[in-house]
Amino acid sequence: MESDNQGSKHCDESHDYKHCLEMFKRLSEYLDNELDEVTCKEIEHHVKQCVPCFSCLQTLKRTVDLCKQTANKPVPRAFSEKLKELSQNMPKTTNP
Ligand SMILES: [Zn+2]
Repeated sequence: MESDNQGSKHCDESHDYKHCLEMFKRLSEYLDNELDEVTCKEIEHHVKQCVPCFSCLQTLKRTVDLCKQTANKPVPRAFSEKLKELSQNMPKTTNP
């Protein structure tokens, strides 16, 4: 008795959204490589047959990448401005 249809595109019926929700909580950890291999494989396996989760993971991945990119760019600028600020204040306090 085979109850699961492997290779079938009809996966929405067997889709367990409870499992999805549990996974969603772990997706950020997954992207940060904070999960063990077993959990990673579990997520990858689920995402392969679950379109909503797959697109969610893609969106999350893109967001994380964007965060990394945008986090890298403004920081040096803000940092250099802070340095400028500091260097302007420094002589006043260090110079007698
Ligand atoms: Zn799912």
